Amino acid sequence: MSFPEPLQHLIQHDQPLAQLTWLGIGGPARYFAEPHTREQLVALVQHAHEAEIPVRVLGSGSNVLVREAGFDGLVISLAAAALGQVSVEGTQLTAGAGAKLSHAITHAVGAGLGGLEHLAGIPGTVGSAVCGNAGAGSGDIGSVVHSVEVLDRDGTVRHIGPDELQFSHRKSNLSGLIILSVTFQLEAREVGPLTKRLQKLWIVAHNQRPFDEPRIAQPFIDPDGFSVDDLIQQAGMSGMRLGNASLASGKPNYLLAHSGATSEDVVQLLSRVREQVSLQSGIDLQLNLQIW
Ligand SMILES: Cc1cc2nc3c(=O)[nH]c(=O)nc-3n(C[C@H](O)[C@H](O)[C@H](O)COP(=O)(O)OP(=O)(O)OC[C@H]3O[C@@H](n4cnc5c(N)ncnc54)[C@H](O)[C@@H]3O)c2cc1C
Repeated sequence: MSFPEPLQHLIQHDQPLAQLTWLGIGGPARYFAEPHTREQLVALVQHAHEAEIPVRVLGSGSNVLVREAGFDGLVISLAAAALGQVSVEGTQLTAGAGAKLSHAITHAVGAGLGGLEHLAGIPGTVGSAVCGNAGAGSGDIGSVVHSVEVLDRDGTVRHIGPDELQFSHRKSNLSGLIILSVTFQLEAREVGPLTKRLQKLWIVAHNQRPFDEPRIAQPFIDPDGFSVDDLIQQAGMSGMRLGNASLASGKPNYLLAHSGATSEDVVQLLSRVREQVSLQSGIDLQLNLQIW
């Protein structure tokens, strides 16, 4: 299968994905591309659709587990600078999907716009955060999304306005689409106090998350009214290790991949946790981690 001549220079074959994900596990993508422009991104998706090649997009790779078999399709990385531009107009901030969430937050705060700062410390890109309605204790990102520009599976660019957007706990109605950019509706605030608030929130987030661990994931969604941490502790599984994957002791909602870890180690550990938590509490934990 070959891509049209203008796209060929972008395509890498059998590109290992492990190094592009935080867990550092998994096999290659049959095709891999890192488009430099939005036009290239659209053309890649259009061509893949015509050739019936499945497509996945990769942000920072902090919420993906790749199986050893890899992905038999096209993986598109949104790492190019052109896909992560951030701009402000009045009280609205627009970010390309590939922008780091942390960059969008500091840009907003620097422009005296509040509403994103409570998300400080959540790793990853704006596109992924909005698709999965990422959130921290005091709210989800969806509550400040005004509109979203997406690519349909066939490569058609579409604008989704406030009336059509739906967000619920770690979910949105954008799943299955590729987010190109997001416009946030924020509130004008004084830069000084807002910056101080961001610094405090950043310190709190940093203390809550074991950021020193390089190969880490936060695999489960807190069920409404419960904390995954508490549920796993009550099931007696904090620190549990299976093969070369373990739960962080003391913060068992984080999963660590040790040297030699395989996707099977992770999948088995996650399934053991779900089983034990369900037996102990009757709660069926839902995965946030995307398994490819
Ligand atoms: C240490 C740690 C702490 C975390 N804390 C939190 C937290 O407090 N709250 C929280 O909600 N999450 C948290 N997470 C999960 C993670 O930060 C979020 O899921 C984040 O949105 C992932 O962004 P990413 O760019 O790394 O996505 P990736 O891992 O690259 O991708 C994740 C999924 O999003 C899809 N995706 C990526 N970009 C796009 C796009 N443009 N359009 C459509 N789909 C896309 C991918 O195809 C994939 O299915 C944490 C993760 C870690 C490792």
